[in-house]
This record gives sequence, C-alpha cells and structure tokens, in this order.
Amino acid sequence: MREIPHFIDGRAVGQATGEQGDVFNPSTGEVQARVGLAGPDLVDAAVQAALRAQPAWAAQNPQRRARVMFEFKRLVEARMDELAALLSSEHGKVVADSRGDVQRGLEVVEFACGVPHAQKGEYTEGAGPGIDVYSMRQPLGVVAGITPFNFPAMIPMWMFAVAIACGNAFILKPSEKDPSVPLRLAELFIEAGGPPGILNVVHGAKPAVDAILTHPDISAVSFVGSSDIAAYVYATGAAHGKRVQAMGGAKNHGIVLPDADLDTAVKDIIGAAYGSAGERCMALPVVVPVGERTAEALRERLLAEIGTLRVGVATDPDAQYGPVVTAAHRKRIEDYIALGVREGAELVRDGRGFALQGHEAGFFVGPTLFDRVTPEMKTYQDEIFGPVLQIVRAESFERAVELPSRHAYGNGVAIFTRDGRAARDFAARVNVGMVGINVPIPVPVAYHTFGGWKRSAFGDANQHGMEGVRFYTKVKTVTARWPESRMEGESSFIIPTMR
Ligand code: NAD
Repeated sequence: MREIPHFIDGRAVGQATGEQGDVFNPSTGEVQARVGLAGPDLVDAAVQAALRAQPAWAAQNPQRRARVMFEFKRLVEARMDELAALLSSEHGKVVADSRGDVQRGLEVVEFACGVPHAQKGEYTEGAGPGIDVYSMRQPLGVVAGITPFNFPAMIPMWMFAVAIACGNAFILKPSEKDPSVPLRLAELFIEAGGPPGILNVVHGAKPAVDAILTHPDISAVSFVGSSDIAAYVYATGAAHGKRVQAMGGAKNHGIVLPDADLDTAVKDIIGAAYGSAGERCMALPVVVPVGERTAEALRERLLAEIGTLRVGVATDPDAQYGPVVTAAHRKRIEDYIALGVREGAELVRDGRGFALQGHEAGFFVGPTLFDRVTPEMKTYQDEIFGPVLQIVRAESFERAVELPSRHAYGNGVAIFTRDGRAARDFAARVNVGMVGINVPIPVPVAYHTFGGWKRSAFGDANQHGMEGVRFYTKVKTVTARWPESRMEGESSFIIPTMR
C-alpha cells in the first residue's frame, strides 16, 4: 500500500512507527493509500527545521522572496492537470472543480507576489524636532496552518503563500483525509527555489494539532475547519500565547425576492447547493423565497433542475458533482435527512441510498430537497455539509433579513433580486460576514479578505489580502533622533511629547 510521507526540511520523511490513517478514493470506496499520523516528535522536528531556516529567509529582500512565489505559481500552473487529478482522487470532487480549487489558491499566491508593496511600513518625517518615526512589518517567525479536507489546495495556499512571502517559516498540518496535494505543493515550493525548512508538511489528527497548539516556538496558528474544533483551536492556541485565526463552519442562506430573475437564480442556487456535493463552507444549503408565489415557482423549478443533475465519479467530465469524502460522512448526511423527516420537514426529493451503476461502493449521496423547513429544526440549525438543500419560506423581506442574521453561523449569504435598493439595504443590515448580490458563492478575490462572523470565525483577522499580511507580521515602531552634535542637557522624567 502506498504511504504518503511527511515533508520536513525539504525532504520526504516516512513514519516508521505510530498511527496511520486511511486515504480513500471516494469514487470507488477503496483505500488507496495510508498516511502517517504525527505525534509531538515529528511536529517538533518540523519546528526545528523551520527555526533553522527562517532567519535567512526573512533576511532576504522581499523581491527575492516574491520571485520564489512567482516561480512557484508558474510550476503549479504547469502541473495543474496532475494536481487536479490527484485532488479529485482523494476528495471526490469532479476534476473541473478541483482545478478551481487550485486556481483560487494560486490567486492568493499572485497576491503574495506583491509582498514587497504589501509589507512596506510607514514613515513620518519630523514627528518632533529632528525626530523621525517609522514602522516595520516583521515576520513572526515560525507559524502553522491547520486545514480542512474540502479545499486541500486553496486553503493551504491562502495561508502559506502570505505567511512565507512575509518572511515566516510554515508548518502545514493538512487534512489527513486528502493529504497528497498539500505534499505536492511543498515539493513544488522547493523546486521553485524555496529553501528547505520554510514550508513543512506534517500529517496528522488531534495529537498533531495539540502539539502545534502547545509548541513554544510556534508564534501563530491559522485554522480552517468545523466550528467546535475552531473554537477549541482558538482557545487552546491563545492560552499558549499564540496569535490565532480560526475559521469555522457555515449555513449560508440564499434569499430570493419576488422580483428576482428566477431562471438565473435557480441555476445559481443549484450549482451552489449541490456543487462539490455540498462540501463547501460557502455552499448555499438554505434557500429563502419571499412570499408564497415565489416559493411555489422556485420549488417547481428547483425540482425540474434537480431532475437533470448528473452525479458521477470524480473523473466523469459530464458529472456535476461526485461522491462525498468518506462513508462516515455519507452516513452523517443520511442521518440528517432522516432527522429532517422526523422533525416534520417535507422531503421533496430523497438522495439516500443513491448507488451509481458500476461504482456501488462509492460514497455517493443523491441530490436532496426539503421544503417547509423551520428555524426550530436541528437540521436547519446544524451544518450538514452534503448535497441537501432546504427551503425555508419567508413571508416578508424583514423575515428574510432576520433568518441569516439570527442564525448561529455567519459565513456567507446571497440575495437574488433586481431591486438595487433592497439589495443595498440587505447587504448593510444582514449580520453575516460575506454577502453576494446575485452572486451565489461570494468568496472574495485574493486581494480582499475571507472571513465569516459569529460561529463561522474565531479571532479578529480574516484570511489573505492585507488582513493576511497583518496576521503574519508584527509591527515594530522606531522613533529616531540623530543629533547634530553630542547630546547635552538633562535627563527628562516626563513622557516625551512632540510639540
Ligand atoms: P474538521 O474540523 O473535521 O477538520 C479540520 C482540521 O482539524 C483537520 O486538519 C483535522 O485533522 C483537524 N481536526 C479534526 N479533529 C480534530 C480535533 N478533535 N482536535 C483538533 N484538530 C482536529 O473539518 P473538515 O471536516 O476537514 O472540513 C469541513 C469543515 O470545515 C466544515 O465545517 C466547513 O464549513 C469548514 N470550512 C470552513 C471554511 C471557512 O473558511 N469558514 C472553509 C472550508 C471549510
């Protein structure tokens, strides 16, 4: 059986002893590889390599660091087909979607290529008599990222591209469910001229995460995953003196006003609800039609569109979505569908027990649609993370603002309307971090920042963009005076003021 190694100090590192995890091919249901699950020793080996490499990397001028990122981008682009196929084989998303996963990460690498500009400090000439003040943004040192299974290329690149370009060394602990693409990215970083020890990959589960959170030489931790674990990572990392940003789960609503272009909205909602089998933190698993007429028309069109969906293996070029990541996750989704029925929601389309001919052992779930879901239901409150769309009918615009605003999660929300004033009002008032106006999946471009509100994010810094640069750097402010002759005079015992 193939073994997926760790990557420490520029080399593949096998794991002779200790626990291993299974890496499945979700389209066939087979175990295709094993991955070592690191404990504190391997995490520490990666930290020691990072500590050795980081000072020289930080001392390089920022253009040189940017040049490595340019070359890394070129290499990843050249390997796009290979990376997308590898990603699909472990995650299960269709290959075109895997290309999107790599591409959205590369856009953050492009942003990181601009680090000489982004990391520039500030300068005040003549802040006092003969006194200049300047601020520098210096790297933190060794930082770590812990990433989820659902974007094994994009989310690691959100983190390490910015961190490394700013002069840090990085320890990546990717999801143990699909670890191969993160490993390939680290190899390509070395091929691009990145020094050994600057990007290390340590695979693992909770023990590896705990070793990162408690390691005294790791200055900051970026996490993306489910909310309970995000809350734990935030609290534990902070208790150990680290800077932490921890993105959590989501339950995004798509609001459909009566004046929306229904043809376009339905296509957008179907893509955002079922694409990647619903395993996206910016998916739209809840749709909120305003008014009964909108609800009836929407339901009819959604059903018609669902009837045309093709679920297939990840390599099927005609499939709209593939299997979910593991059999355990499929069971969890199917249990939620059963719960929805018990809670009294109307199951309009049932995706349970879906079997794909010739791939009966694959982890497939058919498209599922619920109507008449209400906020009291657990299936509405929880993130299901599967191809399950829930219709929650709203009687008014006010109710449509209230539903996502009161939900415990606050990652993304979308509104479909032709009324600019209503959309503007909605965007201003809704209590959610990222808003789409006739855009179903409003993942911000790389030079803006990504982050939800409420239980969707813990900490105060978003991912990538200038917030990423701020997260991975600390400000040092220098107040300088160059006297013309030797300083004379008396000591001052009052705080200096620059009149
Ligand atoms: P997960 O929380 O199970 O795992 C995330 C990471 O935490 C993995 O690296 C995993 O190994 C580690 N981990 C798992 N259990 C742990 C534990 N008990 N203690 C410490 N670490 C642990 O998430 P997942 O299933 O891989 O990913 C899906 C989740 O991620 C969804 O909730 C989704 O909404 C969320 N997500 C959020 C965003 C965002 O930016 N807000 C983006 C993508 C995914």
